[in-house]
Amino acid sequence: MSTKDYLEKDYYKALGVGKTAKPAEIKAAYRKLARKYHPDANKGDSSAEERFKEISEAYSVLSDEKRRKEYDEARSLFGGGFRVPTGQRPGQQGGFGGFDFGDIFGGSGDNSGLGDILGGVFNRGRGTAQNRPRRGTDVETETTLTFGDAIDGTTVALRLTGEGPCPTCHGTGAKAGTVPKVCPSCQGSGQSARNLGSFGISEPCKECHGRGLVVDDPCPACTGSGRAMSSRTIQARIPAGVSDGARIKLAGKGAPGERGGPSGDLYVRVHVKPHPVFGRQGSDLTVTIPVTFAEATLGAEVKVPAHRGAPVTVRIPAGTPNGRTFLVRGKGVRRKDGTTGNMRVTVEVMVPQDLNSKARSAVEDLREATAGADPREELLERAKEA
Ligand SMILES: [Zn+2]
Ligand SMILES: [Zn+2]
Repeated sequence: MSTKDYLEKDYYKALGVGKTAKPAEIKAAYRKLARKYHPDANKGDSSAEERFKEISEAYSVLSDEKRRKEYDEARSLFGGGFRVPTGQRPGQQGGFGGFDFGDIFGGSGDNSGLGDILGGVFNRGRGTAQNRPRRGTDVETETTLTFGDAIDGTTVALRLTGEGPCPTCHGTGAKAGTVPKVCPSCQGSGQSARNLGSFGISEPCKECHGRGLVVDDPCPACTGSGRAMSSRTIQARIPAGVSDGARIKLAGKGAPGERGGPSGDLYVRVHVKPHPVFGRQGSDLTVTIPVTFAEATLGAEVKVPAHRGAPVTVRIPAGTPNGRTFLVRGKGVRRKDGTTGNMRVTVEVMVPQDLNSKARSAVEDLREATAGADPREELLERAKEA
């Protein structure tokens, strides 16, 4: 794809979407059209194949946020249907050419300064960055873990859909049965030397756009780009102790790079399912345990469930009020530094709903024994304050 392609082709029209279409809309339109015009479904129909190429090319640009922006900017600067007088021969699409302003404005002798203005608009110098190895894009996905897996760490299978090497040509960009050849102009270096008086400067090869390889017959599936939408499944290690809503970075697991560039990173947004008994506060586990009125009043040793382990015994001192929290050290979530959080045990004093006659008479005895002590006395006094 070249500047020329960008200016001559209406990718929005090719996919039948509006200029403000959201990524999901573009994807849906592409899928529908790709299914309809796929070469496998239209054997020998060259017009369907042409249409399929057109759709794929449009999608490869519009689905890439950066390229779409470049495309939109180029078209808003020149309008659609602008025909670019370039010396580029058809079929020469080594890699994704993208923008090369040298193509439009011819290199030296251009005194209009337009090239420089455009270079600034796109935040790059003339025809350089596009030809370098390009880092793959970062990919974002999400996964839902059980409460226990989030605490202990786990390995999850993540299905990723994104741009990858074209399966038809295995990323070479060349038609089946052909291979890209070493660029005859630069002998594969991707660079060409130019003499400017006493200076010798090196610039990306015009013939291969810096790729070092050229394709005579482009792969029909990817129109020579070597890239295609695909889905893959990867195994991702989720470290122990992740919290709900955490975003984990898996370096190098994003989209593959181009022209030998490094892969992007994968970000996994983690959702954690709630547990029926335990909660989390950072690296602490929380649990609420019911205790009887007698246990809270007289004190008791109570069994408290622990996550992945035998219950622990917690001593409730005499006179423990409802809602008091006790700390059980080391029974929480493992932290990154190897230490472990605590378990916070909150007591909930139960009020009996149903008493047998013996219990009832015992409580009545208690009432009698504590008669005269009004717990609201002080409250009523303080309420009179201004
Ligand atoms: Zn291909
Ligand atoms: Zn070359």
